[in-house]
Amino acid sequence: MSMNFFADEFGPEKILEVYDVKTNMKGILVIDNTALGPGKGGIRMTPNVTIREVFRLTRIMTWKCALADLPFGGAKSGIIADRNISKERKIELVEAFSRVLKPVSPELYVAAPDLNTGETEMTAYALANGSLKSCTGKPANMCIKPGEICGIPHEYGATGFGVFQSAVVAALHIGLSLKRSSIAIEGFGNVGSSTAKYLHDFGARIIAVSDSKGCIFNEDGLDYQELTKVKAEMGSVTKYKSGKILPHREIFSLSADILIPAAISDVINEKNVDDIKAKIIVEGANIPVTDKGEEQLFSRGILVIPDFVANAGGVISSYAEYIGENPTKMLELIKLKITRNLKIVLSKSKNQGIRPREAAMQIAQQRVRRAMKNLS
Ligand code: NAD
Repeated sequence: MSMNFFADEFGPEKILEVYDVKTNMKGILVIDNTALGPGKGGIRMTPNVTIREVFRLTRIMTWKCALADLPFGGAKSGIIADRNISKERKIELVEAFSRVLKPVSPELYVAAPDLNTGETEMTAYALANGSLKSCTGKPANMCIKPGEICGIPHEYGATGFGVFQSAVVAALHIGLSLKRSSIAIEGFGNVGSSTAKYLHDFGARIIAVSDSKGCIFNEDGLDYQELTKVKAEMGSVTKYKSGKILPHREIFSLSADILIPAAISDVINEKNVDDIKAKIIVEGANIPVTDKGEEQLFSRGILVIPDFVANAGGVISSYAEYIGENPTKMLELIKLKITRNLKIVLSKSKNQGIRPREAAMQIAQQRVRRAMKNLS
């Protein structure tokens, strides 16, 4: 396959296609750039994962880690596997993948969960590798040597905590009181619900939340505990009693001061961008706003906090786990890093009259270039 369609000055440094004869495991690892540190990125297990798909995700990780100011580069990997294989077969494939990657992991690659992999697979990866540093996303009680600090479970909602911190900085930036603002959150999964939790604990008013079944809206505010209960017991936030049920797409045109898309990609686009009434959009999901959509929002003076800045809490948590920090320190680190880096991004964006995404990209690229220069 020709590499020319994606290789550039930043990478990729390595593309490995691996095969284990004994288990018939077929896998891919793309390491984009390691100037700042080992490549960080998850292992996805899907039937048709490709090098091109893995590379795209790898590059996003390069910018996300650089912008979060972490000593990590970008990487991502995949194991070709049907979605319905047994748990035992999954473990067998992950163990084989880990053994084959030992020459590069953890030195050049630190794995993590992604599509169809979680803490069980990370336990298998770390055990087969022999080093706790070979992956993050391990369970809290997992140790190789007695006394070692192990995993940080995702129940802490690291990504949502970072999205919340981004909302705090963004509100301050435009002189909006977060406590007096109204907030709408698209999606009530890992990112959406943890963002809602931290906003609720802060005392903010969440007026709308959506999931795949629809949107629940109440101008006086929704109760986070009740939302969590109905979602767990009845499968959807639309079962919340005191509120109006709307089609899920209507969440984007509500009169909320802050809109947090935290579910799927491209949901704000040329078709609905003119309906947006929010003053701030914090991108919890990956690419929830199309490029054209972001441009139009910028020209209307709506502040958009880009995904790779706002949702970096997860990878910052991975770094905390990697260096053996506890969950309290992990949350402190997310607050520190997201606040500091987002302020740098917003000040550059304001001074140069460019979109926050452009400012963030320039800062990330500058950090990677500087690290590459220092190595040469
Ligand atoms: P998830 O699967 O836990 O939750 C997704 C939620 O979206 C569910 O509540 C689902 O009901 C809802 N949903 C599906 N279709 C919808 C629709 N049409 N309208 C409204 N809601 C809908 O996923 P997640 O981990 O929360 O990830 C969400 C997004 O955030 C993805 O883009 C993901 O790539 C990105 N992200 C996640 C993390 C993380 O740590 N989990 C980190 C960075 C980025």
